[in-house]
Amino acid sequence: MKTALVLGAGGFIGSHLVKHLKQENYFVKGVDLKFPEFSETSADEFVVGDLRNQNFCAQVFDKSYDEVYQLAADMGGAGYIFTGDNDADVMYNSSLINLNVVNLCVQKKIGKVFYSSSACIYPAHNQQDPDNPKCSEESAYPANPDSEYGWEKLFSERLYLNYARNYKLNVRVARFHNIFGPEGTWHGGKEKAPAALCRKIAEVQDNSSIEVWGDGKQTRSFLFIDECVRGIRRMMESDFEGPVNIGSEEMISVNDLANMIIEISGKRVAIKNIPGPTGVRGRNSDNHLIAEKLGWSPNYSLRSGIEQTYHWIQSEIKKVH
Ligand code: NAD
Repeated sequence: MKTALVLGAGGFIGSHLVKHLKQENYFVKGVDLKFPEFSETSADEFVVGDLRNQNFCAQVFDKSYDEVYQLAADMGGAGYIFTGDNDADVMYNSSLINLNVVNLCVQKKIGKVFYSSSACIYPAHNQQDPDNPKCSEESAYPANPDSEYGWEKLFSERLYLNYARNYKLNVRVARFHNIFGPEGTWHGGKEKAPAALCRKIAEVQDNSSIEVWGDGKQTRSFLFIDECVRGIRRMMESDFEGPVNIGSEEMISVNDLANMIIEISGKRVAIKNIPGPTGVRGRNSDNHLIAEKLGWSPNYSLRSGIEQTYHWIQSEIKKVH
């Protein structure tokens, strides 16, 4: 039986990944500051604790796992990472986690390590045109991320890649582009655009309006969670170190995304664009490299993923009220 250690297993992507690894018959140990919020963990063992703490980390790495998935990070949607209010915490917390983890991976002779980077590492100057953003892997340098969250991810990518070069650590580095789906954070300030819009639309009455940050013309692409998990596993099974994008190329403006959700809801809802944190003007995954190296491309349409997410958030709201 293969063994996996999933760090950030109480979070959105981590909890889905744990479920998937169990289906593949792994022994899984999960670690997080908290248990998953929306369903029981599927992990064989789950440890609650703070990966910034070196002693705790050393206890977590109790044996030589075949695979480590490093998903733990201080992160959130635009309301968390683009306001500037959390920059010091984001950089300090996530760097410390990665510094602790990478070192223990070498000490404990971990077979393979997956590190989750982000599309937020791409230079701001290549993402000013909403219709034509550039996010091919090699365009990351000269570096100019638009957020401190992106700078930390870039630093940690380099950290894992340096450990690969100097200590022969077997690493895989992927840059996720806006992952969404059921059991993702949908309220509280750390939610991302698809979940926030689903919540706003699910909560309003027919014939009313919702607020959307920015002019709504900013573009993004969104990848459904099952596809993300499939991409992670495909990469871990391959010899390709990365960094590589794991995302969707189905780009849409934020107002069009809101309109898609409004249509799914069956309500008549107007969009009121208001000032708010938005990040870059345009962003889309570039999947040339992942198609070439791993033969991977997403299957789900945005619409089918959003339908599932909207219905899940609607049912969560009903539980609360
Ligand atoms: P998430 O916030 O749901 O999961 C991250 C988990 O890390 C949380 O459960 C959190 O409690 C845990 N964590 C934070 N600090 C910790 C600490 N000190 N000790 C232990 N656990 C700690 O986020 P997610 O969407 O599941 O993202 C997983 C990873 O993928 C993150 O590294 C994130 O930066 C990266 N990523 C996600 C997206 C996305 O769209 N969701 C996009 C790009 C990159």
